[in-house]
Amino acid sequence: MSQQSPLSVLTPTLELHRWQEFLDRAVELDWKGRIDEAVQAAEAGYQAALESGEVVGAVLASHRLGLLNFNRETLAEGLQVCLRAETWTKFCPDEGAVLSLRSVHGGILVALGDIAGGMEMLVDCLQRSRRCPEALAVWRVQTAYAVALFDIMDFDGAATAAGEALAYAEVNGLLQDYLLIARCIAGRMAARALAERKLAGLEIDQALFEVTESIQTQVLTIGLKSDFAYEVAEANCCLGMLAWVRGDDAGATARYTAALMKARDVEDSGLIGLETSYWYAYLLAGQGDYAGAVSLLDGVEETVAQQQSSRVPLRYYGVRYRIAERGEDWASAFRYLKLYHGQVVADHARLSSARAYTMKISLDLENLRQKQDSARLERDRLLEENLRLAAERQASDLAARTDPLTGLGNRRELRFQCEALKAAGVEHATLMLVDLDHFKRINDVFSHAVGDNVLKAVARCLEAIQLDGALCFRMGGEEFLVVAPQVTACVALGAAEGLRLAVQAHDWRQVAAGLDVTCSIGVADWRLADDFESALHAADVRLYSAKNAGRNRCVLTV
Ligand code: GH3
Ligand code: MG
Ligand code: MG
Repeated sequence: MSQQSPLSVLTPTLELHRWQEFLDRAVELDWKGRIDEAVQAAEAGYQAALESGEVVGAVLASHRLGLLNFNRETLAEGLQVCLRAETWTKFCPDEGAVLSLRSVHGGILVALGDIAGGMEMLVDCLQRSRRCPEALAVWRVQTAYAVALFDIMDFDGAATAAGEALAYAEVNGLLQDYLLIARCIAGRMAARALAERKLAGLEIDQALFEVTESIQTQVLTIGLKSDFAYEVAEANCCLGMLAWVRGDDAGATARYTAALMKARDVEDSGLIGLETSYWYAYLLAGQGDYAGAVSLLDGVEETVAQQQSSRVPLRYYGVRYRIAERGEDWASAFRYLKLYHGQVVADHARLSSARAYTMKISLDLENLRQKQDSARLERDRLLEENLRLAAERQASDLAARTDPLTGLGNRRELRFQCEALKAAGVEHATLMLVDLDHFKRINDVFSHAVGDNVLKAVARCLEAIQLDGALCFRMGGEEFLVVAPQVTACVALGAAEGLRLAVQAHDWRQVAAGLDVTCSIGVADWRLADDFESALHAADVRLYSAKNAGRNRCVLTV
């Protein structure tokens, strides 16, 4: 294929990370509560990623889109985004991106009522995340799992899972913004679990109570300092629930009042006001003030009516039923239970239609392919080709830098790594030039194949060297180089001595009966501001002197 093929238009380098800019923008808009614009930005990120052939970008943009839709409860749109992105996951080399996307996908399925399918997906994500090195992705999976448990009203399970996700976020050094989200989620779920236990007359876990109170206090402090209205309102609501659980009704009242005040400043929804009113109403009803509870709930009736989501009315009728029951107002209790049931039935119908919708989208996608929508197929084909070429290029880059016999880097790789060390600001490194003793004899006496196996085994000894960040290379023949950044020559001499003894002590009988192998090592300083070749030459001079002095030794000074 010539350089001028249409594929060159799609080479990733041209528009590198334009999608990332869109995604950053989407996150920023999300924080500001400008959700519609955030969705637009994320969609633009998705398109930009596809145009530049960057599958990771397409998958990450889909994750963001899915999450935005999930949070604003436009679940069908969210599902469509996830299904659309499935096309790309098989080409996506970034496991973290795939797991992030799948965890949102699973969460949306659960919220849509496909509990079995969604949970299966989430549990699979949890298992795969154990091998994923990207902390943010792992945390996202754990959080999605906790939220899904919450959605199916397993409040204790959700509190435990969210607590684990928070602990993971803290231990793995996630950014402050994410830590705040992790605290909010863990705090919210634990407060709810505790309050539900109190409602049900169950025992309260004292340790969980204390941890939750401390998390909510932290969230409140940060929220007040940064002027985050939602976080302040929610933390007050949760602290009110905790005070109520403890039996401190006066404290709870003060918190609820503060939460309701702050809820007025929250831009995009009155949901937090609604949530606070529910819990405040439980408190009033518990104190025998049934009329107060009812008037509080009547006051939020309008907010409930305005909600698109069916989950809000469902919860509202549930609360009203429970309150009426407490007030022994059986007529109201009956009425709200009936409304509640009506909502459940309507919900069930909605879930079935959502499931049908899921299937329809899958079919549409399939039809789209079968209709041979030529433009789309051509673009898919080009993208796939582009990805394949990128993968091939990566493989051949790797091959060009690797010694095929030992798998160590070659001289070319050495050059790259030296540049990388300089770019990282490393100022000093120690070089160890390692040469096998009388290797020619090994070839002659045992065979070239045995010689090859010796080289492979020595490479493994090199890689096991006890120096942080040490890089190993095969320079050619039976000569190797270890570059130890930020290690003084004296410390390196100790490690070189360890390496020499390891080579000598290796069980060479496994390779050939009667075989013994030793090596000589020349050690030299390299200040990265100075020429690498001179430092290598110094190591070579010392290696030569080790050979002259009888071999099987390390030399630092000539
Ligand atoms: P000294 O102790 O002075 O280093 O002696 P030596 O025999 O190790 O050094 P010399 O340079 O004389 O011999 C190196 C030998 O390494 C010669 C060459 O055939 C052999 N050799 C080079 N590359 C390979 C390889 O990839 N596999 C095998 N088996 N032998 C190789
Ligand atoms: Mg040699
Ligand atoms: Mg040699």
